[in-house]
Parts: sequence; structure tokens; C-alpha cells
Amino acid sequence: MNHFPIFLALSGRDVVLSGGGETALAKLRLLLKTTASITVYAASPSAAVVALADTGRIGLVRRALAPGDIGAARLFYAAEDDEKADARSAAIARREGALVNIVDNLAASDFLTPAIVDRDPVTVAIGTEGAAPVLARSIKADLEARLPAQLGRLARIAATFRSSARALAPGRARRRFWAEVFERAGPAAIEQGGAEAAIGALLDRHTRETAPDLAGHVDLVGAGPGDPELLTLKARRALDGADVVIHDRLVPQEILELARREAVILPVGKQGFGASARQEDINDLIVSHARSGAHVVRLKGGDPTIFGRLDEEISACEAAGVSWSVIPGITAASAAVASIGQSLTQRGRNGSLRLLTGHDIRGFAEHDWRALALPGAVAAIYMGKRSARFIQGRLMMHGAAAQTPVSVVENASLPTQKVRAATIAGLARAVEDTPEGTPAIILLGLGPRAATKALADQIERLG
Ligand code: SAH
Repeated sequence: MNHFPIFLALSGRDVVLSGGGETALAKLRLLLKTTASITVYAASPSAAVVALADTGRIGLVRRALAPGDIGAARLFYAAEDDEKADARSAAIARREGALVNIVDNLAASDFLTPAIVDRDPVTVAIGTEGAAPVLARSIKADLEARLPAQLGRLARIAATFRSSARALAPGRARRRFWAEVFERAGPAAIEQGGAEAAIGALLDRHTRETAPDLAGHVDLVGAGPGDPELLTLKARRALDGADVVIHDRLVPQEILELARREAVILPVGKQGFGASARQEDINDLIVSHARSGAHVVRLKGGDPTIFGRLDEEISACEAAGVSWSVIPGITAASAAVASIGQSLTQRGRNGSLRLLTGHDIRGFAEHDWRALALPGAVAAIYMGKRSARFIQGRLMMHGAAAQTPVSVVENASLPTQKVRAATIAGLARAVEDTPEGTPAIILLGLGPRAATKALADQIERLG
């Protein structure tokens, strides 16, 4: 390690910068995040730098840096974009005792400025000693996505509980309290407002609890249509913290691999009409793990609120006194329309949209066929493979035009995605061609957008 990372106290201290152009401005933006007192030396500053000075937030001296200007400043930035001028100012600053950074000149600098993820007071500094700035940026982007935007506020509020949390036994009890503050209760409370009260109540509960085994929690999480990049950041975070992941058949391995290595992964796959884990058994599994103190992630394909039997699982949690929350996901219909370049609603065509199931507890599901048969009607039909012929018949019987466009999208969002363009007249045949066990959704009233060449290439045209 050639450069040692430290966090320097700058509150009320002087920082001097030479230069008044774009490079100087970029550094100034960063320095303005601190509470340092900043002075800029520039013979001809840009309008943006002048505007900053006009706000009073920085001091501006309209000439080049001269001996005696550094004063008590600890840090000096040479940002004149001119090698000779930078070297000259750097020499002055160094002689007068400041640590010097020459922008984009690592070799001639005393320190370098890291890439920063700012969740003040939580700050992450990333340095590669100039070896891989692109890598630093991508690590920064990863962390930006991973750390909640409100983390700083939460940390500040949490800090006010530091001394009262000493009431908890050191070690596991304290760790569990803080983990819950930062991973679960805190982020949720910040979103809803009232984080102080929530953390206070949490501390009370933890203090009162004699057994260190605290109650678990169940997150009912939407895993999206399959592409791991279509997971929400919240879903990812839940997976990061899960002790137990209970998942449906539709959730691909790649997503399960995002869970912690120590997490217990339990498949409870359900398949159309086929044999599968009974819902009661799934409920029992969820509840028993949560009761043993585990953070359970119940991971469901798409969005958990759409044909997901969510309410039964929530009721089971409630009956058992287990806390739960729902994390939405991208539903299959959204991924499917994206694949054909269409909208689910369109001004002048359809002002409403139906999400239908092909079968319900009684078998083939009945719907408002008359409304569905009207020109312009759009519906996304889930689990419609076995009932495609029935749906086709019902629509025709209620006067739907045989040539109404229909798209059948299998494995939406996955590399194996396949789109079949058909019409109501050819619906059953198009669906019959989709392989057994592959999820497919029927988009009634929507054909693939013809203009998209790449799409047209991978689309099979039928009936
Ligand atoms: N909660 C899920 C739906 C569960 S019902 C969601 O919001 O997407 C299961 C049905 O969803 C499947 O039979 C199929 O019709 C549809 N489905 C789920 N994932 C799909 C995908 N990647 N491609 C096409 N259809 C999908």
C-alpha cells in the first residue's frame, strides 16, 4: 500500500485551490461537501466559479497563487490544467507546509483523492493508487446501488442510541440489535418517518427480552421475471440478509446464488396442475423458520401480489405473530410487453388492462369474455397454456375478431425468451408449441411492434 487512507478533519480549516476552470470546478464540487473554508486563486475564473464565490461559500482571489497565500491551509489542490503553472503553485504550497495534490498527476502529488460514496456521516473511500480508475468507478457504482440513500440519516439517528444500547449485553445481543436497526427496522422506519421512535421501541424490546433469540421476520419478495438484473435493489438487499430462502420453481439459480453463502435454500416448487408442496406445508415452513429467529425470504417469481397466493402466507404469519413485509417485483406481463416493444395501455386503444389467470381452483377460469372480445381490449393471461383452446373458443363465441393480434411470450426476460406472434384464430396452436414446463404468458390484443428488426428476427409468426 503506497497510499494510506485516512479521514482528515476539515471542519473550519483552510483548504486552498489554484485554478478556475472545469478541473478546478470538479474538485470544488467535492470539497464543498466538507465544512472546510475554501479559497480559490484564479486569474480568470469561469462564470461557474465566480457564481460559487458569489454565494459566499468559497473565497475567490483573482490572481495566481503567490508566496504567503497558503497560511494555515492543510491541503492544497493544483487544478490549473497547465503543467508548468501547477508545478509552480505546488512548489509554493509545499514550501508553506500544505499537503499537495496536483490533479491528474499522481507521481507529483502528496495525496490522492479517492472515489467517494457519500452517505454522510457514512463515507466510503475507494482508491486504486491510480492503477484502475475505471475499476474504482465500477466499485463505486456497485456500492451506490447497495447502500440505501437514507443510510446517512439512519446512521446519524442510530448514533444517538449508542450509549443507551450499552444496556444490552455486549456481543451477540448488541450485534443483533444493531443489525436489525441497519438492515430491517431502520430502513423501513426511515421510509415511513419516525425512525427515532422505531429504534427506541426496538431497543426497549431487545432490552426486555431475556432470551437472546429474537423473533424472526418474513420478507415476501418478488424475484421478477427471471433476469437477475430485473431484481429490485430491495430484493437484493433482502437476499443479502436472509438466513432462509424459500423459493418457487420459477426463480432461477442465478438469483438464488445472490443469497448469502450460509443461507438455507429451500425449493417449494409448484407447477400448474401438477403435484407440489401443499400451500399449508409452505406456510408452516415459513412460519417455523421465522419463529426460530430466522430472517426468511419467501421468494416468488414476478410480483408476489399477482397470482402469488400471497394473502395465505401473510395470514399464516399474522396467525403466528410473525412480522412480515412485501417487496414488489416486476411481473411477467411487464417483461413480456417489453420484449415485443409494446405498451400495456395506449391512449385511444385501451384505457384499462386485465391480468387474468387461465385456470383457477375450479379449472379453466371464466372471465368477462364480452369485454375481452371488444376491439382494442388488452389482457395478459398468466398460466394460460392448458386453457388456450378454451380461451380462444370463449373469445370467438363472444364476437372477437379472428384476426385480433395475440403474442405468446415464453421465458420472458431470459436468454431463452421466445415470442410467437399469432391471432386469436391461431392462439391454441401457438400455445401448443411452447414446451411443457416453460412459463409462458399470452398477451391478448397485442402483436409485436413490427418496426423492430431485431424483434422480428426472433419471432415466429403463426396463424
Ligand atoms: N407472480 C408471477 C406470476 C405467477 S403465476 C408474476 O407476477 O409474474 C405463474 C405464471 O406467470 C406462469 O404460468 C406464466 O404464465 C407467467 N410467467 C412467470 N414468469 C414468466 C416468464 N419469465 N415468462 C413468461 N411468463 C411468465
